[in-house]
Amino acid sequence: MRKKQFKAESKKLLDMMINSIYTNREIFIRELISNASDAIDKLYFKSLTDDSVGMSKGDFEIFVETDKDARTITVSDNGIGMTGEELEANLGTIAQSGSLNFKNDNDAAKENDIEVIGQFGVGFYSSFMVASRVEVVSKAFGSETAHKWTSEGADGYTIEECEKESAGTVITLYLKEDSENEDYSQFLESYRLSELIKKYSDYIRYPIKMPMTHSVPDEEKEGEYKEEVSVDTLNSMIPLWRKNKSEIGEDEYNEFYKNKFMDFENPLAVIHSKTEGQATFDALIYIPSRPPYDFYSKEYEKGLQLYTNGVLIMDKCGDLLPDYFSFVRGIVDSADLSLNISREILQQDYQLKIMAKAIDKKIKNELKKMLSNDREKYEKFFDTFGVQLKWGVYANYGADKDALKDLIMFKSSESGKYETLREYADNMREGQDTIYYACGETPEKIALLPQTEAVKAKGYDVLCFTDDVDEFAIQMLMEYDGKKFANICKDELNLSSDEEKKALDEKNEASKDLLEEMKNYLDGEVSSVKFTNSIGEHAVCLSAEGYVSLEMAKVLSQMPGGNQGMKAQLVLEVNSEHRVAEKLFEFFAKDKDKLKTYTKILYNEARLISGLQLDNPTEFADMISELM
Ligand code: ADP
Repeated sequence: MRKKQFKAESKKLLDMMINSIYTNREIFIRELISNASDAIDKLYFKSLTDDSVGMSKGDFEIFVETDKDARTITVSDNGIGMTGEELEANLGTIAQSGSLNFKNDNDAAKENDIEVIGQFGVGFYSSFMVASRVEVVSKAFGSETAHKWTSEGADGYTIEECEKESAGTVITLYLKEDSENEDYSQFLESYRLSELIKKYSDYIRYPIKMPMTHSVPDEEKEGEYKEEVSVDTLNSMIPLWRKNKSEIGEDEYNEFYKNKFMDFENPLAVIHSKTEGQATFDALIYIPSRPPYDFYSKEYEKGLQLYTNGVLIMDKCGDLLPDYFSFVRGIVDSADLSLNISREILQQDYQLKIMAKAIDKKIKNELKKMLSNDREKYEKFFDTFGVQLKWGVYANYGADKDALKDLIMFKSSESGKYETLREYADNMREGQDTIYYACGETPEKIALLPQTEAVKAKGYDVLCFTDDVDEFAIQMLMEYDGKKFANICKDELNLSSDEEKKALDEKNEASKDLLEEMKNYLDGEVSSVKFTNSIGEHAVCLSAEGYVSLEMAKVLSQMPGGNQGMKAQLVLEVNSEHRVAEKLFEFFAKDKDKLKTYTKILYNEARLISGLQLDNPTEFADMISELM
């Protein structure tokens, strides 16, 4: 029989299939099953209007079988089938099946293409990733004759008449021999193959059946087991997200989540939506109660499962989720993305973008709803994932800050409870125009800062920034509701009256020489020493000047590579009303050695209060002991 040649484009794709080191070879089974399902769809729809079909929904099925000795996998369907001409037209050329738009001949591009199209579907030709020979026996519905199409890949194909009783298609793959790097035999293991079918084709609407071997108790021999073969249906068939919301109970949503995403806790929230318009898709999205088990590992990949018409095309579609929602799990099913790459991939990207935007909005709305209707739940959520949202405010140069600013919270140092920025702004005192915050390890430690006491004494609340990202996020936000933020350990607070301020300025001016001397003793550690009247009863505190606060400097210094150039400019503030101030003047006049010791002690005390390490704790302890 004369071999026919594939059309030029098909040949190229075949080459790619056969030669590429594509890692996702397993998708061939998904492709064959999707084709079978489409063929059944066609005959099923025909049966609705044409009695001569003589079949009802329950009669349709896809049958998969393996033969280890012959090294074959067979996928059969009782769908519409193909005539000889159709076999020729559909399997002889890819252009006909509308499967692919080639970019160009460049080898690198080819490798990339296969990665991309592999995620979406490569159709029938993917068989050649695992098979050295493929046979397709098909009989079209209503036709008298059947045909067999055979190909060993790039060198062409043959078509001949053959026998087949009923309409449908039987595809037989003769698997390639295993090599050092490739294990094709794995697909002959019915367990392995059934797992793949469950993974990719669980929601195909017709039963996918396969003979499976099971160990069952032997009735004749007590305590022993025997092997039994039964034909099992592998797929569950009904995607939960396709059902109507009203038909689904909370339990069903939760069970589905736990099985699918391997969590043992129920999710905090479920979003089930059907969207129509620019993009049409069903989404089933979960906000977990706790981070996914590998969330904090480098290997963690964000993403939603992407299906088209119930067929999985991508396990983690990262483009569907912004980074700040990377903990969200779920499924998106869109008929707009077709398994066969009949459209430009770019266009699909566009669809993905529309879906991603809609999903982002849905999650935000759900969280807003939770925040106003179920505060306790939201706080639990925020305890776990709040940091992500704050990173979201900071990331991308603040591109998402406006959409996220009402979802973030900080602990109030007054009540110890979470407060949103809205709540803080609404609770501000007469005349207060600034949102005060302080950084520290815990709200308790922040409450003990001398500066906190001073701000509280004015009746103002202080927000506690306990996460590394907090201050970076706020700097990105710049203001909330027209109100500026002030770090009480860094910024000029303007808490004192004009007279108090004037008095302090005069005092600092008059003490210039003393303060300069003290600064010199500290040997470049601080950029200045000054008197203050806003730290209550305490003797000293440390503050920072310029852009970088103490906390930011700490965070930056912990980053890989250190904090090159990003050092906080420290200011040692001494309480002008404290008795120690008098001592300083006294020593300045008659005992410079003492002045030096006092300066060093005060500076180290201030560092301790701010949670900074001491460079030389021994020296500090010795100096104190000496004084005692
Ligand atoms: P597509 O992406 O269009 O499915 P394929 O290369 O997988 O591309 O298949 C090409 C065409 O061959 C299909 O569009 C369909 O018309 C036909 N075909 C493939 N498998 C079957 C089958 N099992 N039964 C009937 N027709 C089939």
